[in-house]
Amino acid sequence: MESSNTTARNANLRYVIIGAGMAGLLAAIKLKERGETNFIVYEKGDSIGGTWRENRYPGLTCDVPAHAYTYSFAPNPDWSAFYAPGPEIKAYFEKVANDFGVMNSIRFNREVTGCRFDDAANRWDITLVDGTTDTADVVIAASGVLHHPNVPDIAGLESFAGKAFHSARWDDTAELDGARVGVVGTGSTGVQIVTALQPRTAHLVHFQRSPQWIMPVPFFEYSEEDRAAFRANPSLIDQIRYSEEYWENIYRFNRALVDPHGPDMQAIQNVVLNNLETSVKDPVLREKLRPNYIAACKRLIYSWCYYDHVQQPNVTVETGRIDHIEPAGVRMQDGTLHELDVLVLATGFKADRFIRPTVVTGRGGVSLDDAWSVRPSAYYAMTIPDFPNFFMLNGPTGPVGNFSLIDIAERQWGYIEQLLEHLRHGAKQVAPKKEAFLDYEERRIEAAKKTVFGSGCTSWYLDAEGVPASWPWSYEAFAEAMSKPKFEDYTILS
Ligand code: NAP
Repeated sequence: MESSNTTARNANLRYVIIGAGMAGLLAAIKLKERGETNFIVYEKGDSIGGTWRENRYPGLTCDVPAHAYTYSFAPNPDWSAFYAPGPEIKAYFEKVANDFGVMNSIRFNREVTGCRFDDAANRWDITLVDGTTDTADVVIAASGVLHHPNVPDIAGLESFAGKAFHSARWDDTAELDGARVGVVGTGSTGVQIVTALQPRTAHLVHFQRSPQWIMPVPFFEYSEEDRAAFRANPSLIDQIRYSEEYWENIYRFNRALVDPHGPDMQAIQNVVLNNLETSVKDPVLREKLRPNYIAACKRLIYSWCYYDHVQQPNVTVETGRIDHIEPAGVRMQDGTLHELDVLVLATGFKADRFIRPTVVTGRGGVSLDDAWSVRPSAYYAMTIPDFPNFFMLNGPTGPVGNFSLIDIAERQWGYIEQLLEHLRHGAKQVAPKKEAFLDYEERRIEAAKKTVFGSGCTSWYLDAEGVPASWPWSYEAFAEAMSKPKFEDYTILS
């Protein structure tokens, strides 16, 4: 039966938010802002920040302009630079959590191990790692995307005599200054690490399985005068965040993602190609660094200095295949041995896990693993049939690319809020209809195959069947879809 949302408000809804990263904090702040008091955030780590807690590698920077990588309701005049360093971003989230009074609602070191929907009681039974339990009317899964390290299966890794670790598990005891360091991986992470470590190391080997297109971007620090001006006149911040230029870039970039053979992608391609041709002097190195796929097929690397650093005499770009790792270093298939003291595995993440390994069981005992047996997916990236009152932020099939995930999460929250209103006014269950979900998935997959992500390269954007796991339409279409749910696509039980 459809409920009307004009019935009396249920003030006692219990919300469990999973994850105290950017999206979980957003949910907590927004619930509090609405006057909700019965919510809690369970966080598996010992502090907030999600990806900005787990990643602490040298050179960690967000390649989205800092004033755009902030909550719309919490501008920050104090960013030190156009692109903010990771520790500053983590500190920003801590400050916001304190300023908005949600820190006390977070329970740290409390990993959620299970969520089971009780159909009769219309609620979620939650189990935690320490054996305690909780119940919730609503679960907000804000557990992040890139948080399960992909440690490569390279023979002999354990035998390495030096320190070897994944980029998201940085070993602070590793001696880097004057050391011989290897970095495996050329994603945003590997490029940032190489850039930061090159000046510090005696020798650095960048192991490149695939080259990357590099988008040259400006970088500058904000002076104390700039920051004082932002503080005195916050509209200066708005002029960056909401500038026509910034948003036109986002729209143009997304048009390019959706139409990889169109003029917007051609313009991007021209910029990155020109960057390679004009920045890399040695023709042999230039060819090593030249990708054979369309720009942004893999996530485009934004860097103002990577090419400068890899051209320094203490850097080797190794494009051969790794055979194995031995105590002294990395042995290539051609027999070359790179002797190393430290080996950094910037080899990315298992991007298909999302909330898993938490065991999520929906209506009728359906497990999330079963629902996602082909690929992780969610209706408009947020809701799943048979998993009522369960909402994902930055879940599967959401927009991915070189833009602010904060903006994505805020728009998703605007959508979720409208569904929550039904629960607040008497509905017991809200879940998308299966046929609506299947229709969405069919349309999405068809469109996704035509995006640049499906144009012929490997990346974490592709699911196990090689289908891009992303939002395949324009940014404007995403904003429009988030502005109001199609309620007719939902079963709203009262
Ligand atoms: P990634 O983009 O998935 O890159 C992983 C790299 O490791 C690739 O170069 C991959 O090579 C290589 N690799 C994986 N297994 C390997 C193996 N067995 N042998 C040799 N090479 C191997 O991971 P990431 O760099 O950590 O970045 C992940 C995402 O995090 C980014 O796309 C971005 O969304 C986000 N990120 C953002 C920022 C930012 O500034 N906003 C910074 C860092 C990360 P192939 O390409 O050949 O597979």
